Amino acid sequence: MCFDYDGYAEFAQESYPITRKPHRCEACRAVIPAGEMAKHTAGKFDGAFFSNYLCNVCAQLELIIVRSELEEDCRWSEAWPPWNDMINYAEEAHMIWYDEEAAAWKGKPEPGADLRQLRLGLDEFYKSLRAKAEGETI
Ligand SMILES: [Zn+2]
Repeated sequence: MCFDYDGYAEFAQESYPITRKPHRCEACRAVIPAGEMAKHTAGKFDGAFFSNYLCNVCAQLELIIVRSELEEDCRWSEAWPPWNDMINYAEEAHMIWYDEEAAAWKGKPEPGADLRQLRLGLDEFYKSLRAKAEGETI
């Protein structure tokens, strides 16, 4: 399933900083503590400026979803899940599930990952997909 958007940000810049103060995660709504590597996105959408954070776990989940969408032949711009629906999507895709007995989420990535490295890994993966697609058309 590719993600269909009505519109795209006029511009957006993503980065993976170590947070200097607490922020709220746009996807799971948990507080991101200061000193954690998170994803920051700032840009302009529909005439309004925005600045959002994803916690380390949700940022990893986002990259996992993007990778699987790309594997399903979605275009790059359609591979990124909407933040407010990302947790639902991951649950419906059986990537994560709530274990009633353990009263905990299962399948979620562990916090503390080096998001910059994972993001570079996604770029590499996308490049290899495109190279393969170009190779097949020759
Ligand atoms: Zn989160």
